Amino acid sequence: QLSHLQEDDPTAVEIHYKRDASKVDRAKVPKYVPGQTCANCSLYAGAPGDTDGGCGLFIDKDVAAAGWCDAWDKKA
Ligand code: SF4
Repeated sequence: QLSHLQEDDPTAVEIHYKRDASKVDRAKVPKYVPGQTCANCSLYAGAPGDTDGGCGLFIDKDVAAAGWCDAWDKKA
């Protein structure tokens, strides 16, 4: 079990990561589109139904399935 990526982690701040995608500030982060979450990002490695899982950007941290960051990329 990896530790969770914290929102105040410097890298998380840089990429506007939120554990709850609905908390992304759309005024500051206009590229965010509601409905995008880590769970439907191509870099997410969590199993369906898991609340947290690995992310290709972070070797030693889990991200929230309901989260989001600037690097979101549509899962094929
Ligand atoms: Fe979530 Fe994808 Fe960003 Fe990783 S790259 S934190 S899975 S949105």
